[in-house]
Amino acid sequence: MIDIFFEIFQQGQISKVATQAKHASDRSLDSKYTLKDLEQRHEQLKLVTLAMWQMLKAHTGLTDNDLKKFIKEVDLSDGELDNRVDHVESGEKCSSCTHKIPVNSIRCLYCGAANGNHEILSRTGS
Ligand SMILES: [Zn+2]
Repeated sequence: MIDIFFEIFQQGQISKVATQAKHASDRSLDSKYTLKDLEQRHEQLKLVTLAMWQMLKAHTGLTDNDLKKFIKEVDLSDGELDNRVDHVESGEKCSSCTHKIPVNSIRCLYCGAANGNHEILSRTGS
C-alpha cells in the first residue's frame, strides 16, 4: 500500500520537474530569438551610422579625427571617459526591480520595465 502512495508521489514529482524543464526550455528559446533580433538591429544601426558618417564626410569636409574629437566630448559629457553615453551611476533606480539604469535607457536592462525617466535627448545639450 505504501508503495502505491510512493509511486503516486514520484509521478507527481516527475511531472513537476518535466513542466519546469519545459518552461526553462521555452525561456531559453525566447532569449535566443531576442538576441538574434538585437544582433540584426545592431547591424542595421551600424550600417546607418556608417552611411551617415560617409555622407557627412563627403558633403562637409569633416575628417575621422573630427569625429574622434566629438565622440570623446560626448563620452565625457557624463563625467566618465568609458565608451558610453551615460555612466550607469548617473542613472535612476528602476521602479520595478530597483537596479540602477542609465537615463537614456528606454527599458530596464534587468527586468525589462519601461524607464519612466527616459530622456532621448538628455546628452545633446538641446
Ligand atoms: Zn528593473
